[in-house]
Amino acid sequence: MFIQQLRKLFLIVVILASILLTYLWYEDYSFASNPLSKNIQNKIYKKHQELRVLTYRHFNIKRVFPIIVSDQLDSSKFGMAVYSKDRQINIYLNKNRFKENENYMIDDVMPHEYAHAIMFALGNFSNENNGHPKVWQDICKKLNGLRCDRFVNHKDILIEKTNIFK
Ligand SMILES: [Zn+2]
Repeated sequence: MFIQQLRKLFLIVVILASILLTYLWYEDYSFASNPLSKNIQNKIYKKHQELRVLTYRHFNIKRVFPIIVSDQLDSSKFGMAVYSKDRQINIYLNKNRFKENENYMIDDVMPHEYAHAIMFALGNFSNENNGHPKVWQDICKKLNGLRCDRFVNHKDILIEKTNIFK
């Protein structure tokens, strides 16, 4: 009798575990193959609008820096600001990092990268602290960045040098 109950219990545990595994697998799979949820997309959009307003107010820059959510970024990176040869300035956000902490991505990473974009637009290509000099910090703070830490050690800017130092 006891053995039978144990078997039943074991069977239930196995079934529950496999349901959980399937669910987790499905969640991972659907996250990987779908765009971010509408809710997160809206938050990114709103933050982008806020950054545009602050950029105009503090720096008189009307230019819009496109924000591109990508799953092609190196997994160690949260985001990147890229100045390309054709003088286009784009901000990339690592889609996979939204899974851990969307608020960090929106309230910290977006102003951080936007400040790099403004530096580029102002013609400042300083390499101090991998692109995080005092000027960058001041810009980041004006964009209401939460942690505008100058001594971050990640390399999150890419400058495709053609003609910019000429
Ligand atoms: Zn940075």
